[in-house]
Amino acid sequence: MAAVDYQQLLQDVMAEALGGGARGRSADYIPALAAADPGAFGMAIATVDGAVHGVGEWERAFSIQSVSKLFTLALALAEGGDGLWRGVGREPSGNPFNSLVQLETEHGIPRNPFINAGALVVTDRLLELTGDAVGAVREFLRTESGNPEVGTDDAVAASEARHGHRNAALAHFIASYGNLRNPVDSVLAHYYAHCAISASCRDLALAGLFLARHGVRVDGSRLLSRSEAKRINAVMLTCGTYDAAGEFAYRVGLPGKSGVGGGVLAILPGRGSVCVWSPGLDAAGNSVLGVAALDALTTATGWSVF
Ligand code: GLU
Repeated sequence: MAAVDYQQLLQDVMAEALGGGARGRSADYIPALAAADPGAFGMAIATVDGAVHGVGEWERAFSIQSVSKLFTLALALAEGGDGLWRGVGREPSGNPFNSLVQLETEHGIPRNPFINAGALVVTDRLLELTGDAVGAVREFLRTESGNPEVGTDDAVAASEARHGHRNAALAHFIASYGNLRNPVDSVLAHYYAHCAISASCRDLALAGLFLARHGVRVDGSRLLSRSEAKRINAVMLTCGTYDAAGEFAYRVGLPGKSGVGGGVLAILPGRGSVCVWSPGLDAAGNSVLGVAALDALTTATGWSVF
């Protein structure tokens, strides 16, 4: 089999995505994110041997937002095991990421770990297990990426907290059902701080490799069993891209997790991890150019989990 020229592949994919015209709009409900240029673009592929290739602004740090939910989930499962699933489900929600509507009929058990309600529960459990949920995520990202600069952007976290009425409402509502074990304010502070971590496509592609390596970290130690890694990939595929996970699976055919900062991290099990960033979002909250680039990548290569 011919070796893949990743650099050329990324150049071609970037040209195709940028050539498409549509850009979307930067998230503005978090004011600190609103100024981002919707057409900015970066993309990186890391392969399971630890090599990483990139194009565009692939080394520029951006607000990872909900991509962090993938790491909180992995760490909470690694630290606490399957009991996590008693407090959060794993079904697609069919509602926007910050919706309250299912919580009442489902007795304070959020549908999945990737909507905000579910991520708040996961953050709560990780806080209980480690004493420092944001610290756990930050250390994990630093170690896996080899970049000690990865950290929270305090201005973004403060902006989220100031405009976080909906997240606060979700957290209180979940707490009213007894499904949070820490004070609501602590859970929210850790949640905002891990969403507001800044990292680049390079950093996130490397940090996602543990899922491509079926649970094995950069130092060869095992974070998750093969089966747990498979399950996280499955939940990413079904729930990782907001209320458009069906469309993402259709177009891209890979497990992926997006964030309103414009990042999307997708996993090629056994092969590698791809991160793309462009702040212009579609109506569901996914990066327009990011999804277009992943679509172009998997269409050109045939890489898919199917
Ligand atoms: N911190 C953001 C919020 O809670 C995350 C949203 C996202 O990226 O999906 O609204």
